[in-house]
Formats: sequence, structure tokens, C-alpha cells
Amino acid sequence: MGKKELDTRFARFGTVSFAGVTQVNDFVDYLEDGRLMGTKCNHCGLYFFPPRAHCCQCLSGSPEWFEVTGEGRLVTYSTLHYAPAGFQADLPYTIGLVDYGQYKVFGRLSPSLGEDALHVGMAMKAKADKTAAGQVTYVFEAA
Ligand SMILES: [Zn+2]
Repeated sequence: MGKKELDTRFARFGTVSFAGVTQVNDFVDYLEDGRLMGTKCNHCGLYFFPPRAHCCQCLSGSPEWFEVTGEGRLVTYSTLHYAPAGFQADLPYTIGLVDYGQYKVFGRLSPSLGEDALHVGMAMKAKADKTAAGQVTYVFEAA
């Protein structure tokens, strides 16, 4: 066997990709196929989003992928007028936390949703998306 190539798929994710190499790089391939995925521990059944390769509860390293589908409920949201380095060009943008019952997903809300259209508890659904620079990402829309 030759030397294994570096798997840098995660560099294709998000406005600023903080992790070029992870153990959950399939996340990016799924997202390019339009599917937002998390992981579920095969041993104890705990759900993870963002996906994890190892379970923090039972330390098992055998996760399976699950798709974030259906409707979640908006738990909280905030519109940013100041941003971390690398995100300034996107301002203002709104981030939120959506509860799907067995897991919660953090992410941006669609820019088409004005703040007047938002309220805690509203039904949301996740959608694969692209940034202006062509990176893969996901956003929440009203369900
Ligand atoms: Zn576990």
C-alpha cells in the first residue's frame, strides 16, 4: 500500500472551515448530495450534531449516520451585527438552535426570513445550501 492521501473534504464546508481534517468528513459529501447528517452511537443510542466519530457517553467508536429530516422547533435565535474573523462580509445574519427531539441542530437561519417572521417555538426545517463563495453549508427555513 502507498501512503494514504490526506482527506481534506471538510475544507469545503462553511464560510470559514475550522477543521480541514476530521473523522467525520462524510458529512461534507452528504451535504453536497443535499442531506444534512449527524451521527448516532451504535452502542448507547446517543445522537450527535455536529457529528462525532466517538461517543462522549460510552466512548464507543462505532457511530452510524442519520439524516436531519422533518421539522424541528426554534429554541432560540440571535441576529449578529458583529462577527468573528472571516464572517464579516455576511453581516447581518441570524443564527438559531432547532430542537428535533432527540438532538438539537445549531445553524444559520435563511436570510429570506426577516426577524419579524421569527418566533421561539416555530417549526423549522434544515436545507442544504451553498455560500456565496460556493462552499457547502446548510440553513434553516420556516417549515
Ligand atoms: Zn455511546
